[in-house]
Amino acid sequence: MSTDGSVAVLVDHAGGLARPTALEQLTLARELGRPVHAVWIGADPQTEVIAAHGATSLHHVRVDGADEQLTASLVDGLQTVLTAVGDVSLLLVPSTFEGKEVAARLAVRTGGGVVTGASGVAAQDGRWVARKTVLAGTWDTACAVTGRLAIVGLAPHAVQAAPLAVAAQVEVVEHTVAASAAARAVTVVSRQPRPTSERPALAEAEVVVVGGRGVEGDFSGVEELADVLGGAVGATRVATDEGWIGHEAQVGQTGVTISPRLYIGAGVSGAVHHKGGMAASATVVAINNDPDAPIFEFADYGVVGDLTEVLPALAAELRKRRG
Ligand SMILES: Cc1cc2nc3c(=O)[nH]c(=O)nc-3n(C[C@H](O)[C@H](O)[C@H](O)COP(=O)(O)OP(=O)(O)OC[C@H]3O[C@@H](n4cnc5c(N)ncnc54)[C@H](O)[C@@H]3O)c2cc1C
Repeated sequence: MSTDGSVAVLVDHAGGLARPTALEQLTLARELGRPVHAVWIGADPQTEVIAAHGATSLHHVRVDGADEQLTASLVDGLQTVLTAVGDVSLLLVPSTFEGKEVAARLAVRTGGGVVTGASGVAAQDGRWVARKTVLAGTWDTACAVTGRLAIVGLAPHAVQAAPLAVAAQVEVVEHTVAASAAARAVTVVSRQPRPTSERPALAEAEVVVVGGRGVEGDFSGVEELADVLGGAVGATRVATDEGWIGHEAQVGQTGVTISPRLYIGAGVSGAVHHKGGMAASATVVAINNDPDAPIFEFADYGVVGDLTEVLPALAAELRKRRG
């Protein structure tokens, strides 16, 4: 139980590019003042980007005998690196569905302690202490990991990714791992990318515009504002249950947890189950025609008005200001 030793980061990547959240984790890791081991599982690591964000070692892992994108393969790869390095006391993973699954499985294998949805982590009295908000954003907690290894899932945008002025000297270490029985038990038969919009992924977006029951089935105003701001579109459970938008857009306790820099809720009442998934947003803007709507109790900015007027007006003004 110590914060000595080094820090490891699982570099989440897609299409050959490190995800923005991985760069946030590397930035936090280097600020902790210990050697930083970046772990890239799969082909073609982005060595320069990883060095620019302060990793001192890059562990390039190939998993033999299983699909490398499987959660079980990621766990196999991470366990190999942890064993090879020997002194990792903190591992950062993304706080996504997949990242949480990796954290849990790895904790079972290593006896590590897990905190997910963290907004930060620091060494305190010889222990790694992660901060997170709980109970629909009503409490801030500090969770100390008492085991030998702390596995922390960092919420998107908890820190700002920043490259170094001068990239770190990164040592590349190659590993080949034989896939475990768990990884080999699954065969990926085919992969079909879903048709996507140009919008960022909901869980990682810096800006999220959410539509609730108040949109009455018409998400065009929400989508227009999201596009002007380069943001993602989210929804309340009412909107997804009504079939106005897919369930993957649901934000809340039983949907996606988000922590954007800017959340805009249009026609959203701010029910506790919804708030539970967006309370970590840095700035909350509410557009609602009921001045007594609960969302105004925790919004930073509120507009009392009809969203069919406010959303297009806001989008038009933003466009005008951007020339
Ligand atoms: C176990 C459980 C889990 C749940 N999980 C989730 C979850 O993950 N995510 C989630 O979102 N919900 C979840 N819910 C549902 C949640 O409790 C609320 O019912 C839901 O969030 C309300 O959605 P809403 O704000 O769109 O609708 P409402 O609460 O009906 O609010 C609609 C709002 O729109 C406003 N409005 C109406 N017309 C306009 C207009 N023209 N212009 C401006 N404002 C307008 C109204 O004043 C009102 O405040 C869960 C519920 C349960 C029981």
